[in-house]
Amino acid sequence: MHLRVKALESVLVEKGFVDPAALDAVIELYAEKVGPKNGAQVVARAWTDPAFRARLLEDATSAVAELGFTGSQGEHVVAVENTETLHNLVVCTLCSCYPWPLLGLPPVWYKSNAYRSRAVIDPRGVLKEFGVELGEQTEIRVWDSTAEVRYLVIPQRPAGTQALDEAQLATRVTRNGMIGTALL
Ligand code: FE
Repeated sequence: MHLRVKALESVLVEKGFVDPAALDAVIELYAEKVGPKNGAQVVARAWTDPAFRARLLEDATSAVAELGFTGSQGEHVVAVENTETLHNLVVCTLCSCYPWPLLGLPPVWYKSNAYRSRAVIDPRGVLKEFGVELGEQTEIRVWDSTAEVRYLVIPQRPAGTQALDEAQLATRVTRNGMIGTALL
């Protein structure tokens, strides 16, 4: 894979379609400056501000833009909320589509063939491997991302966090929680 990516990059550079410095800048931006802490801020806001939560579920793209999270790979975001009886899991069966402005770059396992195929065939089994065991009464909904639509899971707020403020709550939200492969 690494060699194929290198080969593709050199052809694109050679033909003048991309500037290597621009590629480095994009990678550095999403690896260093943008990351799951953005999504965590969105989730914490949704937990503490019912009006924001409603806007987020109605139109996530404009709700997250209120917090300044816009840009490439985040043009059309849909937020899906976990409840006592519903668990949401996000995958991109075709490649690795992911809400970059909210979660940064996708983890390696998210891009793997195994996750991409099995998340839709056996979501309960995949979740178990991530250490997530859900009761039979909990429905699992799998969302297949595309180049147009990216998903953000709003995990359930952990018990015993009533006293925490928004910033403290955000530290409890994990990247996997927002993909649906972890509970908080
Ligand atoms: Fe994709």
